[in-house]
Amino acid sequence: MDERYYIYENWHRKRGRIHLSTCSYCNDGQGTQEVDSGKNGKWHGPFNRNQAFIEVERLQKGADIQPCAVCNP
Ligand SMILES: [Zn+2]
Repeated sequence: MDERYYIYENWHRKRGRIHLSTCSYCNDGQGTQEVDSGKNGKWHGPFNRNQAFIEVERLQKGADIQPCAVCNP
């Protein structure tokens, strides 16, 4: 297993999503242009699964981070 995970953190909404690198919303950490202007948030990663969930715990102090409903990481 060497799936890569990315976390998108939205500063405005104080929330984020965990994605697999292959998710169409993640696009290997590039995101979709309409979502990621670089002003509203930031991509974190790539991580392996363990690293991703450690990072989620850290980020959850400031934001609501949930797994993406599309790629279901
Ligand atoms: Zn996703």
